[in-house]
Amino acid sequence: MASEQTVPPMRGLPIAFYGTVIHSLDANTLEILQECFLIVDDNGKIQKIAKDTPRSKINDLVVESGYTPDVFPVKYLSRGDFLIPGFVDTHHHAPQWAQRGMGRDQTLLDWLNNVTFAHERKFEDPAYARRMYAACVAAGIRQGVTTTAYYGSLHGEATKVLADICLEQGQRAFVGKCNMNRNSPDWYREASAQDSLKQTEDLIAHVRKIDAEGKRVKPVLTPRFAITCDEELLSGLGRIAANDPDIHIQTHFNEAQDEMQFTRQLFPKFKHEADLYDHFGLLGPKTILAHSIFLEEDEISHIKSKGCGIAHCPISTSTLGEFMMAPIREYLRRGIKVGLGTDVGGGFSCSILDAMRQAFIISKARETFSKGADPALKLHEGFFLATLGGAQVCGIDERVGNFVEGKEFDALEIHTIDAERNNEIGCGSLGIVTPIEDDDSVETIFEKFLMTGDDRNIVKVYIGGSSLKR
Ligand SMILES: [Zn+2]
Repeated sequence: MASEQTVPPMRGLPIAFYGTVIHSLDANTLEILQECFLIVDDNGKIQKIAKDTPRSKINDLVVESGYTPDVFPVKYLSRGDFLIPGFVDTHHHAPQWAQRGMGRDQTLLDWLNNVTFAHERKFEDPAYARRMYAACVAAGIRQGVTTTAYYGSLHGEATKVLADICLEQGQRAFVGKCNMNRNSPDWYREASAQDSLKQTEDLIAHVRKIDAEGKRVKPVLTPRFAITCDEELLSGLGRIAANDPDIHIQTHFNEAQDEMQFTRQLFPKFKHEADLYDHFGLLGPKTILAHSIFLEEDEISHIKSKGCGIAHCPISTSTLGEFMMAPIREYLRRGIKVGLGTDVGGGFSCSILDAMRQAFIISKARETFSKGADPALKLHEGFFLATLGGAQVCGIDERVGNFVEGKEFDALEIHTIDAERNNEIGCGSLGIVTPIEDDDSVETIFEKFLMTGDDRNIVKVYIGGSSLKR
């Protein structure tokens, strides 16, 4: 059984940082603040950001902010160190944690039937779920993922365990159980639409019980995709959404050719998937549409008008089955919300840095195939998708995603230089990041981290002001 618990106390001590802070203001604007003084209050919120602050002014700012100077904890960041916002993973299947990287050569529907459903079935055992989910969530935090939108298995109890674990470990999360009452093996299918809906409502109640204000963990309706849901089930989910304006929704959307063809056969009366999901009341500003590869022109306008966000999962869409390139440039051009998803376990990596690098590769391919009409993503755009863009997709950009006074402090402390090795050999990078040289600018160091750094460079992970990386 899932445990009965409440939100752990999130108050801590106030803390301040002095040094380089890097974040996105929007998709086109990267802000690099040097000599930045940033105070996090004891509620884990950003109390003050003072740009271009000489070190001699710090004590004055501490006093102005209501604290006692000299004893107030200020962390001074060295050269090669900086703060960035925490990464947001907008699409992740927690019960596929143990199958990442498996089944590369198969189409989507074959991969689900041959590899995935058998793995997800194991989560009928809540004890197994607890072990596997604990490892999965801890690994995400280690990689600097401060918010994740999780698909659970179809099991209500195991998915409650996933919500419990996110709360225990302190990760910000959306947690949903997959709805699926047809077109999967009989040993991995819900008995009926009513049963699926009942378990969904039960999960929502559990998540809201353990975190009543939704400070860390929130429920999300998760029709796996229309193929596995009959009309009664989709209608029932739409009813839940209509009666619960706070509920989030996530599903797979125009992901692969075989999936789209099968969906058309099952729902011939709908023009396309946007029409279908909208008919059942499942498209809105709190909807996360994973993949969104092959949209028709009016489908793009449709999801834009509904305010839906897109979880771009470049690793799974270029390694599973055929190579698929979502039109991310077009979505950004139209002001549609886009974030990055690892799509564990279709995606082999739970690192948003890896997802971002693959997004660069896919966008480069798209630039070539479009003969330059869709320019490749720039570095600052990839970083935006990994942070603020993801927060927008999840509808939490008012609270996190970048550094603004009043927002919660979800942040990563990045170190790129290993001081000891640097003294020994003169180019002592921390981990495998490209060596930092004496004349490197902050911009260069930032790019070296984004393109070649890994979790060894993420030395601290703060969620709501608490340091969580162990
Ligand atoms: Zn997926």
